[in-house]
Amino acid sequence: MKFKNYAKPQNLAEAYQILQNEKNAVILGGNTYLRLNKKTFSTAIDLENLGLNFIKENDENIEIGAYTTLHEIETNAIIKKYFGDFFTKSLKHIVGIQFRNIATIGGSICGKYGFSELITALSVLNCTLVFHQNGVIAFKDFIENSQTKNDILVKIIIPKKCGRLSYKMLRNADSDFPILTVAVNKNSQLNIAIGSCPTVAKLISAKNELENISEFISQNFTFGNDLRATASYRENIASVLLKRALEETL
Ligand SMILES: Cc1cc2nc3c(=O)[nH]c(=O)nc-3n(C[C@H](O)[C@H](O)[C@H](O)COP(=O)(O)OP(=O)(O)OC[C@H]3O[C@@H](n4cnc5c(N)ncnc54)[C@H](O)[C@@H]3O)c2cc1C
Repeated sequence: MKFKNYAKPQNLAEAYQILQNEKNAVILGGNTYLRLNKKTFSTAIDLENLGLNFIKENDENIEIGAYTTLHEIETNAIIKKYFGDFFTKSLKHIVGIQFRNIATIGGSICGKYGFSELITALSVLNCTLVFHQNGVIAFKDFIENSQTKNDILVKIIIPKKCGRLSYKMLRNADSDFPILTVAVNKNSQLNIAIGSCPTVAKLISAKNELENISEFISQNFTFGNDLRATASYRENIASVLLKRALEETL
């Protein structure tokens, strides 16, 4: 990517104003994926000074600031206390620790990348997103529909109360993009998300017993081909990973 001006606003209102005033401004997360872009932007808006790097808890929820890095989430004690190794498993294969010390949760969500393991994991947790202008949006709605191109993600809210969690993935080599990702949250119902299809993760809620896993997958998910795997390979792998994930939540 190229940009003509660089802005480091001191508060959200200022950052949002720059985004509105300029036709082709861009928000920087960790700038790890964006920098591969060939476009030229008018202004790059750096969120570093906005205080959006935090993980905190209240009675019901955990709140993660949009500028928090993947490695902080992976290693944070509050996250581990409520979600065990669920997030660690979904993040630890992403490139390397130096990379995960830069890439942010905000950039990972707003990019809506098909391969995003964090999106697969967050999909099953009934999260909500808080945007500066558009306010609160359900995570599922944002991933499936919402266009918030000219807005700034401020934080992610995750309810502490969750069921038994499992995260499974398949990749050809450590640190490569995943071929398929599966997350399960087993509570009074089952939340099942499958990502890297290669499209972005889709969440389906189901009753607690799945009688036929392959049938459930073929009825609810669509798979495609890319250089890493064919659609039919992905569909077969999805059954295997989902079966293992469900066994883990028993
Ligand atoms: C080489 C490489 C390999 C990767 N491998 C994997 C992998 O195996 N598994 C995986 O899950 N992920 C992988 N990723 C993706 C990575 O985990 C991050 O999700 C991604 O790089 C974006 O993180 P970032 O914080 O740098 O966002 P950026 O690149 O800075 O931004 C991404 C997008 O989000 C927007 N944005 C950022 N923050 C905000 C905000 N607060 N509000 C609104 N919009 C915002 C930006 O404008 C941009 O459009 C890989 C990325 C790279 C570059």
